[in-house]
Amino acid sequence: MRASRFFVSTLKEAPSDAEIISHKLMMRAGMIKRLGSGIYTYMPMGLRVIRKVEAIVREEMNRAGAVELLMPVVQPAELWQETGRWDKMGPELMRVKDRHGRDYAIQPTSEEVVTDVARSEIRSYRQLPVNFYHIQTKFRDERRPRFGLMRGREFTMKDAYSFDRDVEGMQKSYRIMYDAYTRIFNRFGLQFRAVAADNGAIGGSGSHEFHVIADTGEDALVYCPTSDYAANIEAAEALAPAGERAAAAEPLTKTATPNKTRCEDVAEFLNLPLARTVKSIVLTVDAAEEGGEKTLWLLLLRGDHELNEVKVAKIPGLAEFRFAGASEIVEWFGSEPGYLGPIGTRKPVNIVADRAVANMSDFICGANEEGFHYTGANWGRDIPQPIVHDIRNVVEGDPSPDGKGVLAIQRGIEVGHVFQLGTRYSKDMNATFLDVDGKPALMQMGCYGIGITRILGAAIEQNFDERGIIWPASIAPFQVVLCPMGYDRSETVRNETERLYAALQSAGIDVILDDRGERPGAMFADWELIGVPHRVVIGDRGLKEGMLEYQGRRDAAATGVPVEQMADFIR
Ligand code: ATP
Ligand code: MG
Ligand code: MG
Ligand code: MG
Repeated sequence: MRASRFFVSTLKEAPSDAEIISHKLMMRAGMIKRLGSGIYTYMPMGLRVIRKVEAIVREEMNRAGAVELLMPVVQPAELWQETGRWDKMGPELMRVKDRHGRDYAIQPTSEEVVTDVARSEIRSYRQLPVNFYHIQTKFRDERRPRFGLMRGREFTMKDAYSFDRDVEGMQKSYRIMYDAYTRIFNRFGLQFRAVAADNGAIGGSGSHEFHVIADTGEDALVYCPTSDYAANIEAAEALAPAGERAAAAEPLTKTATPNKTRCEDVAEFLNLPLARTVKSIVLTVDAAEEGGEKTLWLLLLRGDHELNEVKVAKIPGLAEFRFAGASEIVEWFGSEPGYLGPIGTRKPVNIVADRAVANMSDFICGANEEGFHYTGANWGRDIPQPIVHDIRNVVEGDPSPDGKGVLAIQRGIEVGHVFQLGTRYSKDMNATFLDVDGKPALMQMGCYGIGITRILGAAIEQNFDERGIIWPASIAPFQVVLCPMGYDRSETVRNETERLYAALQSAGIDVILDDRGERPGAMFADWELIGVPHRVVIGDRGLKEGMLEYQGRRDAAATGVPVEQMADFIR
């Protein structure tokens, strides 16, 4: 590829709505362009990365025996009504009507359609097992689209669906997918962890999530460094012992509280069941500079809702404050005795649906960055709003459920999810086949997703520096960039550049030749921002000695490489 015929469009500054590094860098590198909330055009540079991600996924899915098809984006509502998801999915499911007034869903996934394919195409056990997959546009009307491709509304997913005769078969298909995912994420060159995503017996989980490890991840991963135990926070919490019920709290029925809507909204929003045990809260805040000191403000609503008492806490010098355990919560909240009840060290605060929940939710509500702002309270707007990361009943140092050590916690970005569905869909949709005994039986299903476009964001969160993106070689938009010094002026430079360009291309290396005539500084800055792993500079001075300059994207300085060795050197 020649840069003059490609489309390179970089920015010095990221737009102000870009909060995390991957979003900023993708915008600056001209990889994506925002069209609307959670909706992006994949620009040529970004699309190249997407295609590489897809190619690796496709290769490993095919290798694992899955078969590619392509199911429609727009799907008749009738199918979704058969499984009840038309009603259950709520506002995240995008619905449209055609000119005849018929309802359609824009697919967030394709269980219904693929089950419809299976029930009409598969008659006999001889046709099983089969695993259908596609790489297709998804739409989810996310409550808060953000972080660019990380949580888009329109995005690309690889979703696969396995069909088996029996539970053992389904578990085998699941294992095959689990292994394929491991190969896929290894090939991306990313640091990742697979975690149990439900609270099934240890080792026998029916669902796993694959997470790219990153501090900016939205999920908390609980693992034991001295054993195989790893689970997402929800699964880990389900295994944790329940806390004590807050002593003085009186039951709060849903209809009895003036804050009903708010509490429920918050709970739903944070994916927080109303009955919940809390052991720690982790939050950060864009620390406000106050007299040179960073200050974290916390707002706490307490007491009777009608009173709406507000307590503002100020911690100088902190951008992150961590409630490591209930005793600290008590220290904070407990200056008002009875508020959360008397709680000892490391004893979890139980916030079953009682007043404590309401208060805790108020706290969360005021404190979260999800655009959830108090209306009825004395909420100073001039106060910076903390970001709630976690509300947990599992903390670092707790014993691992497998008894083989203590727990550690890290953050992750969910990039893949594998799930044993059993007959969840085949039952509702009557997807049967004739088994060996000639009797109809329900198909046992599994489903397996990978967030293709989310991978880009996740990869950058793990691989960047102050100059820009550092793509892992396997998914970089280009592997090598050739930067000639004076391509237009020097025939020697031009000839050598062209020769090298041809040599690299015939060696199957994905190379871009920067023939735009940019100044060296601007040219280097562009490719460092874009994150191309290898750079070769071709200049008259070096050529006189038969040398080219090579610099890897992570290298601090360039190295001289003899002209004739460069193709081998890069390979
Ligand atoms: P999340 O917890 O982040 O909302 P999810 O659990 O709802 O994701 P799944 O239904 O498991 O997502 O879908 C499979 C994969 O699709 C996820 O593991 C993730 O990589 C990707 N994905 C889900 N939602 C989005 C989104 N809004 N934008 C980009 N990728 C997404
Ligand atoms: Mg989701
Ligand atoms: Mg999830
Ligand atoms: Mg998931």
